[in-house]
Amino acid sequence: MRKNIVAGNWKMNKTFQEAEELIDQIVVGMEETSLKCEVIACPPAPYLEMASDYAEESAIKIGAQNVSEHEKGAYTGEIAASMLASVDIEYCIVGHSERRKYFHETHDQLAKKVDILLDYGIKPIFCCGEVLEEREKEIHFEVVKKQLEDSLFHLNEDEFSNVVVAYEPIWAIGTGKTASPEQAQEMHAFIRSLMTEKYGITVANGVSILYGGSCNPGNAKAIFANKDVDGGLIGGASLKANDFLKIAASFE
Ligand code: PEP
Repeated sequence: MRKNIVAGNWKMNKTFQEAEELIDQIVVGMEETSLKCEVIACPPAPYLEMASDYAEESAIKIGAQNVSEHEKGAYTGEIAASMLASVDIEYCIVGHSERRKYFHETHDQLAKKVDILLDYGIKPIFCCGEVLEEREKEIHFEVVKKQLEDSLFHLNEDEFSNVVVAYEPIWAIGTGKTASPEQAQEMHAFIRSLMTEKYGITVANGVSILYGGSCNPGNAKAIFANKDVDGGLIGGASLKANDFLKIAASFE
């Protein structure tokens, strides 16, 4: 069966010392409690190797926040999948709404990022989700369907089994507004039905679908209690070890 996962997206926050302190606190907290989920931290790129050393000694898993779609070469400032693999990174966020919006990442580019990550044995955490206007126009299902079809559904079954999907309604990211548990379940069930159509029930039931958008220790339990919600991608609340650990402890 699929895993429950709580992943922290630290975005562009923390100095090296602060990052080390945060990861240390998370690891110590994980050792003190028995969590019923996999815990992933996604720190900024300069800290990945340090974080990866923690992963060697503990149960924490490490993810990057971005990867280049290119193999290597003259792409100043970019980070290749081979580089992530060389410091044992297990996961990488792909298609976060901030990257789609500020860096104009396209469906096609995201498909290439997914491919290159899988080539290097790194599991993509693929983000999808609609803006408020799209929800208000009631085209949110169509929007998410297109995101999945254009960037993920070219994968074969084996490849797709290594993907984690994160449904992140953009109107809920960093806004303090969360999708209701019912809205989350409705979209997650829809995403799983698309996966079932494309890959069959066994594959679809094995893929974790995370919810992201203003998750906090107060609302995580109700959201994660839904049948098709397998955990969360956490932004703001992942920057404090206590809050992040409380979210990770929300699984019954
Ligand atoms: C995110 O950016 O992936 C996210 C879920 O952010 P926040 O939890 O801060 O809304």
